[in-house]
Formats: sequence, structure tokens, C-alpha cells
Amino acid sequence: MKLLVTGGAGFVGSNLIRFLLGETRFHVVNLDILTYAGNLENLADLEDHPRYRFVRGDICDAGLASELVSETVAVINAAAESHVDRSIAAAAPFVRTNVMGTQTLLAAALAKGTSRFLHVSTDEVYGSLPWADPGAPGPETDSTAAAERFTEETPLAPRSPYSASKAGADLLALAYHETHGLDVVVTRCTNNYGPYQFPEKLVPLMITRAMESKTLPVYGDGLHVREWVHVSDHCRGIVAALERGRAGEVYNFGSGAERTNLWMARRIVETTGADPRLIAHVEDRPGHDRRYAVDASKAKHELDWTSRVSLEAGLRETVAWYGKNRRWWQRSASGGRLGRGTRAR
Ligand code: NAD
Repeated sequence: MKLLVTGGAGFVGSNLIRFLLGETRFHVVNLDILTYAGNLENLADLEDHPRYRFVRGDICDAGLASELVSETVAVINAAAESHVDRSIAAAAPFVRTNVMGTQTLLAAALAKGTSRFLHVSTDEVYGSLPWADPGAPGPETDSTAAAERFTEETPLAPRSPYSASKAGADLLALAYHETHGLDVVVTRCTNNYGPYQFPEKLVPLMITRAMESKTLPVYGDGLHVREWVHVSDHCRGIVAALERGRAGEVYNFGSGAERTNLWMARRIVETTGADPRLIAHVEDRPGHDRRYAVDASKAKHELDWTSRVSLEAGLRETVAWYGKNRRWWQRSASGGRLGRGTRAR
């Protein structure tokens, strides 16, 4: 069974391909245009794997999408413009890739009779929840279902150009199911962390700056709450939804591990042994969502999925990974690209 995975050179996509090649029998075609966030070095050790092929190209290219969809049985769409701050600075690439790119893939999937279209989305499409104190630091404080959380039925209310473009893509994907009967499943995971995350996102930004004794910028009061899922748990969820999800359904993935951004910065400082005085509050992001948290009970009941990696252990491992892979993040941050086998399309 051959899958088309888009965005496979990015953070989630590369971890997903590593999981698919390591833990399943699927063959994988990776379609990625290699934006600043796509890095073939993420998969350098797998580039000659007999069940793997890389194609450099754009998900908005209808001819290429059609060609690749016709040689695969199912699609996992993980290609995206993914950084909220960049979407505030310039929204057009987000609309192009996230909305139009998804529509291009959906049209190809419909025309070619794809057996399943798994669309990777985010909890950010639900908007923002009111602030709730996630409690004192420590694994024992992982929240239960006490506070308000997003369910799959929560109406979409995105508040950034990034999340608005993701919501548009989700609605299109679900519309292709309703209107055309295309077998679509949508997953919405909370914030991820783990290896190979581009160092513009909170966790790798804090880790890499702490390692270089640079200031750790925390937006506003730092009390924005996020629910943290290790990327390996997210990837296992995507594959569970691909294999066992019901057509036309949405599945939330969360861990219950809610923490403020300030808590994350402090824990990273502690783990790296950096000076706590490096933490610096900076002007808040415009329209900054206060809190995200999901109810993941549907994924538990229908997909038998729960997160396995505790935030404590996952963060320790992630800090250790960035410590061992300085060359990777120093080159990524400076726009360097490694890896051979790129086939321009
Ligand atoms: P990323 O920015 O690290 O990777 C995105 C990848 O898509 C890159 O390799 C990029 O080159 C590729 N890409 C961008 N535009 C493309 C195009 N037009 N054609 C082909 N490839 C293109 O992003 P990520 O963090 O890996 O996120 C991937 C998906 O997972 C996104 O849809 C995101 O919404 C979702 N998600 C991410 C998180 C998270 O915390 N990272 C959480 C939940 C959901």
C-alpha cells in the first residue's frame, strides 16, 4: 500500500514518514516543495529506503498532484504554512498552500478515486478558550476534563490568518466528503514538540537560545496556555485515524498536559542549565490566543489512541536531541539545506 504524504520534509511530516517506514509496511511518496521549513536532512538516513521516494513539488500543482495521487492509494496532507507570526506578517502564502493546495489535492483525490484522504489539521481552528490556571508545574498537574475544552463539535472560530486558512482547508475537506462522497478524515492535534522542529516555534526556539545563552523571548505576560503533545504521539494518531477513523469524521488529539508558555520557558532553562535571567517578556503577539485545550475522548474510544509520552520525559528527551544535533539546527536557522536525492519538479 503506497501513501502520498505531503509536507514530509517538515517537522510533523518527517516524523510521520520515519514512523511509517519504521512501524508500518506502507510505502511512502513524499511531496514537498522545501520551503524554509522543509529540510531533507530530517530524512537523510532514510533517503535510500526501499519503501520511500521523495518528489520536490508544489501541492498547488494540479498536474503533479494528479500524477502522484494516481500512483498511491491514500493521501496524508501535512503540507502547510504553519507559523502564526509569519501569517500575521503576510497571509497570502497561507491561503495559497493551506486552502488552495488542499483543494488541489482534494480534487485530484476525487478524480483518481483515492481510498482515503487524511487531512492533518490543528486545534487552533477552534479559536481561543478563556484562561484557566493549569496549576503548579509537575506531571501530576496535567489537567483532567475539569475546565472547558474544545470538542469536535465546537464551532470553528479561528483568530489568526494561519488558523483561518487551516479552518478553510478543514471545511473544504469535509465538504468534499458531504458533497462528493470522498472518504475524508480530519485530525486536530494540540501543540507538538520533539525532534526536527524548526527553531522558530516555542520549544526549539527556547532550547536553542538557552543553549547559546541568548535571551528567551516570552510574549506578553507568558500566561498563554497550550496543551503539549509529543510529535511521536501525534504521528501514531494520524496513522490510527488513517486506518480506523470513520469517513467524514474529525478527531482531536491532546494529552491533558496544559502549561503556560512561561512554565515551558522556565522548565527549558532548568533542563539546559541556562541562566533564568535570560527569560525576557516582549510585546505580545497581536490577537494572541489565550488558551487551547481539547477533549480527546473520541480518539480514545474510536481509535484506541491516547498520548503516551509524558511532557516531563518528552521535554528532557527533546532538550537532549537539540543538544546532540547542533549542526542540524544551526544550519536550519541559517537557511542551510542538506541531503541529496532532491528531484526538482
Ligand atoms: P512545518 O512548517 O514544519 O512543515 C510544513 C512542510 O510543508 C514543509 O516541509 C514545507 O516545505 C511543506 N510545504 C509548504 N508549502 C508547501 C507546498 N505548497 N507544497 C508542498 N509542500 C509544502 O509544519 P509542521 O509543524 O510540520 O505542521 C504540519 C501540519 O501539521 C500542518 O498542517 C499543521 O497545521 C499541523 N499541526 C502541527 C502542529 C505543531 O505543533 N507543529 C500541531 C497540530 C497540527
